[in-house]
Amino acid sequence: EKNQLKRLKTSRTVSLDGIDIALHANIELPGDVPDALEGGAEGIGLFRTEFLFLNRGDMPDEQEQFEAYKKVVKGMAGRPVTIRTFDLGADKDLHPEGTAGDRVKTNPALGRRAIRLSLSEPKMFQTQLRAILRASRYGPIKLLIPMLAHAHEIDQTLAAIEQAKSSLRGEKIPFDENTQVGGMIEIPAAALAVGIFLRRLDFLSIGTNDLIQYTLAIDRADEQVASLYDPLHPAVLMLLAHTISNAEKAGIPVSVCGETAGDPKLTRLLLGMGLRIFSMHPSQILKVKNRILKSDVSEIAPNVRKMLRLDEPAKLREALEKLNAS
Ligand code: PEP
Ligand code: MG
Repeated sequence: EKNQLKRLKTSRTVSLDGIDIALHANIELPGDVPDALEGGAEGIGLFRTEFLFLNRGDMPDEQEQFEAYKKVVKGMAGRPVTIRTFDLGADKDLHPEGTAGDRVKTNPALGRRAIRLSLSEPKMFQTQLRAILRASRYGPIKLLIPMLAHAHEIDQTLAAIEQAKSSLRGEKIPFDENTQVGGMIEIPAAALAVGIFLRRLDFLSIGTNDLIQYTLAIDRADEQVASLYDPLHPAVLMLLAHTISNAEKAGIPVSVCGETAGDPKLTRLLLGMGLRIFSMHPSQILKVKNRILKSDVSEIAPNVRKMLRLDEPAKLREALEKLNAS
């Protein structure tokens, strides 16, 4: 089976009815690029840059970050690279030996995490933004911002990016002026009020790992409640469908980069919701591609629309089995 999948590596990713789908890889370090390419990735949909920090425990400076980002962009040789700014805080503590004020509090997942932390550490954020922008002259880079919920957070982030650009301009350091900026949809509020994002950003990426965690109030790392962590909960599907269809209406590209995107059992469901860009662990790409090559989106879509009106889990599962049959 593995060899059969390998043969798909160079084929176009297109549905039976001719719809092109983009399959991207999630990576954690520049060293993952060969795996991404080997896995058949057409781009990097999520570079989790906090691993540059987690791997060593202190913050890499601008030059080191720049070199890491440049390495990924050059390694991908002209394919798009989506770089997410640090998703630190929560379980990825920035100051493990710091003062009590620095330390994560009782509800780390609801605390000063990701963009909240970056906005509260402007020097750290500027360093990262400058490093990413500097790498943008070596290939197509997109900037992705994690854990946004509020309009003012997006506005503040865009201002910080403008500030980084203006400092580079002042130093005559080249970068791509048109670097796209996107936001992650991983908080239910963001999915419900997605217009806030669509009006301000160039693209969206749905982080289902966190979106499921926050929608169902299930700690994604807590094994005691792991059986309740359900990507097929009707509320999760409603949020996904709402986000994808509104992005489509607004003409804003939207991807899914959580684990959901890499599960071949969910590929047709996502295709039927209108998803056209998937980002996942490199090991999943060809499995998902195999499903896409055997799927007729125009046939699936009406069935998925019907599924989304079901809010009885057993019926939903039955409908999913039918959708996946053949
Ligand atoms: C997600 O939340 O789905 C996601 C892709 O981000 P991370 O898993 O890094 O939180
Ligand atoms: Mg996340």
